Amino acid sequence: MSDSQCTVYELKCPECKKGFGNVPLSACPDCLAPLEVQYDLESVRGRFTKESVAAGPANIWRYKELLPIPEGCQPDLPVGFTPLVKAERLGKRIGAKNLYVKNDAVCFPTLSFKDRVVAVALANAQHFGFDVVGCSSTGNLANSVAAQSARLGIRACILVPADLEPAKILNTLVYGAKLVRIDGNYDHVNRLCTLIADEYRWGFVNVNLRPYYAEGSKTVGYEIAEQLGWKLPDNVVCPMAGGSLIRKIRKAFNELIALGLVEDKPVKFFGAQATGCSPISHSVKNGWDEIEPQRPNTIARSLAIGNPADGPAASKMIQSTGGWAEDVSDEEVVDGMQLLAECEGIFTETAGGVTTSVTEKLYQQGRIKPEELTVSVITGNGLKTTDALVGRFVQEAAVKPRLAEFDAYLRASDASLIGAPQDAELVGGVK
Ligand SMILES: *Cc1c(COP(=O)(O)O)cnc(C)c1O
Ligand SMILES: [Zn+2]
Repeated sequence: MSDSQCTVYELKCPECKKGFGNVPLSACPDCLAPLEVQYDLESVRGRFTKESVAAGPANIWRYKELLPIPEGCQPDLPVGFTPLVKAERLGKRIGAKNLYVKNDAVCFPTLSFKDRVVAVALANAQHFGFDVVGCSSTGNLANSVAAQSARLGIRACILVPADLEPAKILNTLVYGAKLVRIDGNYDHVNRLCTLIADEYRWGFVNVNLRPYYAEGSKTVGYEIAEQLGWKLPDNVVCPMAGGSLIRKIRKAFNELIALGLVEDKPVKFFGAQATGCSPISHSVKNGWDEIEPQRPNTIARSLAIGNPADGPAASKMIQSTGGWAEDVSDEEVVDGMQLLAECEGIFTETAGGVTTSVTEKLYQQGRIKPEELTVSVITGNGLKTTDALVGRFVQEAAVKPRLAEFDAYLRASDASLIGAPQDAELVGGVK
């Protein structure tokens, strides 16, 4: 096939600029910098237009020309293309006039944005001929690797910190994956996975396949731009664990600018973390270009990476755009979950509580102005972290199935629901 018909890409070291072709490798052997997939955008130009995208399927593969998908590989799982919704009621509550929520709480198939990265990683795992894939995970990645490898008939071995939420453990085991709980935090798990990947011939989606995996996150950025009518927002608020997603949204915007699909404009990036694990926001607040690793202690377990691989790059990127990073307490995390649910009918997990509360804080601080077009990126589903809400809602005693009993109960419990007395004709439809 000629270059005009397929996307040309390879792994590149961002430090020494050395190219590596396409191989399962996470970092430059000389500089130790995480490798990046670099595209020859000229090979894409002309084949990636608003029209060609609109003619594609309603999922991430409509952007296939800008993803590292090996020649001949035709992934078909309908991942992504999640709703971007105008958040009027949330906006009113937090002082925003032009706020949107990107809702990956309903991403297919496993209800988090990790489905995007896994879909791209597994296409490459198959291409490289791995019989077993694995990952180190804070939960959502485990769910997605287990589900998608099951569908492809690839065996999976997944390593997680021992204190993971029960729902995320169940959501991995049900797909028949091998799950190993490690007595340690995510950073211990990740280090072990690096050793395992060297020892066995396994494809670890976020270790030796990481450069390809990370590219899947760009689809969040493509979708935001397309759903805004091929326009970029003024601000993006994004949760950070390893610091990959926030950078890839920026990369996506830059590619769209380079290809002429959107007008060039400055976009500020704002990172969100939980205070109990905030190495990147700490770095941004101090104006550093390095990360001081932390020992995570937060209910936002999906973001609990104390030594984030893309942390330094994310910190530098945020600062270079004139953005900021904030962090919120565990109590604010749960408040944020509840706020988003009450205002927009979106039940997000703890990570989305982090993002929502940080978004609120950024408006309060005046770092985001009310009129600016702002997108808050919600990345996971609340049904996976219901333990965070335990004790928030008391279950009241059951009411007898009689109108008088119900009426007495409601008067005592929430009389405002009753309102004005009804016309007798309307009540139950009897005269
Ligand atoms: C993994 C994850 C993130 C953060 O992603 P990074 O790319 O590692 O920064 C955010 N939200 C949820 C729900 C996640 O599972
Ligand atoms: Zn290098």
